[in-house]
Amino acid sequence: MRITILTLFPAMFDGALGESILRRAVDQGALQVERRNIRDYAQDRHHVVDDSSYGGGPGMLMKPEPLFRAVEDVRCQAGESGTWVVLMSPQGRTFTQKTAAELAGKPHLVLVCGHYEGVDERFREHGVDDEISIGDYVLTGGEPAALVVMDAVARLLPGVLGDPTSSEMDSFSAGLLEYPQYTRPAQFRAWKTPPVLLSGDHQAIARWRRRQAILRTLRRRPELLDTAGLSPDEIADALGPDPEGDAA
Ligand code: SAM
Repeated sequence: MRITILTLFPAMFDGALGESILRRAVDQGALQVERRNIRDYAQDRHHVVDDSSYGGGPGMLMKPEPLFRAVEDVRCQAGESGTWVVLMSPQGRTFTQKTAAELAGKPHLVLVCGHYEGVDERFREHGVDDEISIGDYVLTGGEPAALVVMDAVARLLPGVLGDPTSSEMDSFSAGLLEYPQYTRPAQFRAWKTPPVLLSGDHQAIARWRRRQAILRTLRRRPELLDTAGLSPDEIADALGPDPEGDAA
């Protein structure tokens, strides 16, 4: 997969791309990341990318010409292979695990980072395929949002995580929050690991985990259960007595 980031601040991605999973994804060739500076697409002598808003108001707005030129250049070079151009925007559709999975299927993602007061409305309307928000709050720029999207997408690409099944168990992947997890020592201070997890009985462990995932989702994010596809029996079982006798 290829990700092109259009930004006024390409260096903001240095740290994240140089460490951990994103770095491994790039080193393995599962992900190609290219950063382009939108300022390079400004045609005037001073490479101006922003201007004041018609009608007045505080702050500056990103001008349409450099944004359109940058996107058109990327689209033109990509040719037949196709691009999916996403504007990072607090007004876009909210990013979820489902959106991450959908974007992970695109061969070439272009993430456009706004700045200042945002972008000229004509670019939003006619220059992009999609608009994504990472949540109901306002950042100073789209760069942290693009990083969030890139990270969530990269870990879904084949070969990026050591164990390919690990993302399938994660919260939201099957519509539930993940079950609680413990590692050594079996007892830390007064707190013990539930004995079923030490039993070696894989069926009992799987039952316990499923039940805990349902209970945790019910307590913390009950609205997720509306779309998790659980049968009423499964929910009733989770609420009934614990067959493993290990309440977490
Ligand atoms: N004036 C805009 C508004 O009220 O909708 C906010 C502009 S914000 C200060 C500047 C840029 O940060 C936006 O163009 C966008 O690219 C990015 N941004 C801010 N919040 C975001 C969010 N929640 N999700 C994705 N991008 C965001």
